[in-house]
Amino acid sequence: MPDTTPVIEIRNLHKSYGELEVLRGVDITAPAGHVVSLIGSSGSGKSTLLRCANLLEDSQQGEILFKGEPVLWKGSGMARRPADAKQVLRIRTNLSMVFQQFNLWAHMTILQNVMEAPVTVLGRDRGEVEQSARRYLAKVGIGDKCDAWPAQLSGGQQQRAAIARALCMEPQALLFDEPTSALDPELEQEVVKVIKDLANEGRTMLIVTHDMKLAADVSDHVVFLHQGLIEEQGAPDAVFGAPKSERLRGFLSATR
Ligand code: ADP
Ligand code: MG
Repeated sequence: MPDTTPVIEIRNLHKSYGELEVLRGVDITAPAGHVVSLIGSSGSGKSTLLRCANLLEDSQQGEILFKGEPVLWKGSGMARRPADAKQVLRIRTNLSMVFQQFNLWAHMTILQNVMEAPVTVLGRDRGEVEQSARRYLAKVGIGDKCDAWPAQLSGGQQQRAAIARALCMEPQALLFDEPTSALDPELEQEVVKVIKDLANEGRTMLIVTHDMKLAADVSDHVVFLHQGLIEEQGAPDAVFGAPKSERLRGFLSATR
């Protein structure tokens, strides 16, 4: 039997910042090899959900499972925290995040940026990491930029370097938070192409995006969040072609 355990499974997740309830009971499953897109208005909780998924944020209630392995918690409610630092590190390094603002280290070359975490966090052999870093940079189309500084690259090139950096961790899944939002339209497409290539390779991805065309093209499943709850979800054809909820219809017509 093939292993059908999802890479990420989130059940009934609740997250508040003080009085503000941002996630109010969200379930998300990302099966291996699938692309799940999260859409929704600004402030609906999309970034918070991604950050909770890879344990960059605490959450107060609900379960998070990584390849079937439940995150272990201590405390409860607002005091709930992950109990096992090694588990957190293992999960976080297996769910590599790509941010809207690239977040490259300005004082490191592109190659150093890609090599840094595999060498220092995972303790992998520097020579081997360099080889795979060069391979991933070539794969995203900037193999000639290894020795450049981030500031010397266009936004689209910086974001592709950030994707190479995420790939070099050899993660089980990639989490994208609005990867094309900071880019001019003509640069957006070069990043979209890389994301499409990764989807075609069968990478497991959770993508927050404002780009409905990207979501429609790459997703196996689309989730529409509204004020911290899933308002509607389904295959892209259904969500974009035959939206049932009034709120989703309103959201889609406003983004067209
Ligand atoms: P989205 O990514 O869908 O735009 P976010 O997840 O960033 O939404 O934010 C959801 C809500 O949580 C917003 O109301 C936002 O202001 C609030 N929020 C996000 N991060 C924090 C934080 N660190 N502290 C307090 N409130 C926050
Ligand atoms: Mg956001």
